[in-house]
Amino acid sequence: MRKIAILGSTGSIGTQTLEIAREQGDIEVSAMAAGGNIDLLERQIREFHPVLVSVWEEERAKELRLRTADLNVKVYSGMEGLLAVAQIPESEILVTAIVGMLGIRPTIAAIRAGKKIALANKETLVTAGHLIMPLAEECGVPILPVDSEHSAIFQSLQGAGDNRIAKILLTASGGPFRGKKRGELKDIQVEDALKHPNWTMGRKITIDSSTLVNKGLEVMEAKWLFGVETEQIEVVVHPQSVIHSAVEYDDGAVIAQLGTPDMRLPIQYALYYPERRPLSGDRLDLCGLGQLTFERPDPETFRGLGLAYEAMRRGGSMPTVFNAANEKAVALFLERRIAYLEIAELIQACMEQVPFLENPDLDGILETEQAVYEYILSKWQ
Ligand code: NDP
Repeated sequence: MRKIAILGSTGSIGTQTLEIAREQGDIEVSAMAAGGNIDLLERQIREFHPVLVSVWEEERAKELRLRTADLNVKVYSGMEGLLAVAQIPESEILVTAIVGMLGIRPTIAAIRAGKKIALANKETLVTAGHLIMPLAEECGVPILPVDSEHSAIFQSLQGAGDNRIAKILLTASGGPFRGKKRGELKDIQVEDALKHPNWTMGRKITIDSSTLVNKGLEVMEAKWLFGVETEQIEVVVHPQSVIHSAVEYDDGAVIAQLGTPDMRLPIQYALYYPERRPLSGDRLDLCGLGQLTFERPDPETFRGLGLAYEAMRRGGSMPTVFNAANEKAVALFLERRIAYLEIAELIQACMEQVPFLENPDLDGILETEQAVYEYILSKWQ
């Protein structure tokens, strides 16, 4: 029996994690946290019988306690609840499938408690990679990537031994606006940006995929996960999303992982690593596909990607500024309060204006996040 806890059980990654638990039949879900979707969380509790769950607002927690009074489950709320889920003694693995920087503190708590981390919440590494990776090493805790690209890199590194990574080839589908020029994106509406060509994901990450900011965040995530320099990571646009990413070694050999676009594979690999379990679903049909194509990203149209590289080169609190500004900008875009192209403009303005910290600790990271929100509030609300 594998025992897991999930932060964000009601989301896209969270529900797919539970699908795997359902299909495999030997995963015990000890604890789950969600934001506010207590209808789904209640159904999940009745099916998976966790000992503890958490929702963000105490009001919703109260309602959920009433609804689950016939069950033996504790219901917590707020950050206290997230920390309780993260550290629950019954679980060995924490799946971090929550959105945003809210994931940092519970991830740190779980590492300290010796839990393996199946990491989907990329914002944690983007903003606090310099704290998380040394801590995980110190505590002897593996960070197992769930993001499909990072899982592909991780899989391509199996058997690498001490061989150095010459380059990481991080693939990107290019999103719904691939091939468009900047001027054509002026009037993009929320509905257009929410149409991802290959993957079905949560709303925020779908917008991030369309702007290539998601790829920028993934470059930062890869740097921390695999200990490479920014310049060693090359983004390759590959519209079919079949090659999920690759590693180039010093002898020029490129090892890649291929598959259909199905997030359950990287989630399952992280949960059972190093074992490969059978997985239902479509298999890759290369002859049916006919061809795989590749192109370079267009930095003029997708400015968010260039800003991500800049943020990473500058280091310190800059990735936090980039991430927090993007989070707010995407929220404003989803609320139809700013235009599509303003997402990157707003990120750039924050990178220029918000005070920079050279080596932020956790408080420094959270203060920077706050400073970004305040700056945006003062300018855009
Ligand atoms: P979703 O928006 O689908 O789900 C987010 C989850 O977080 C939901 O369960 C939501 O709960 C929960 N949540 C939100 N706010 C809170 C809160 N305050 N307290 C507790 N839980 C909260 O996101 P995704 O599953 O798409 O993404 C999750 C993470 O994984 C992100 O960091 C994303 O970048 C990353 N990722 C996602 C991929 C994907 O294919 N979706 C691929 C690779 C990485 P509720 O619904 O109840 O509000």
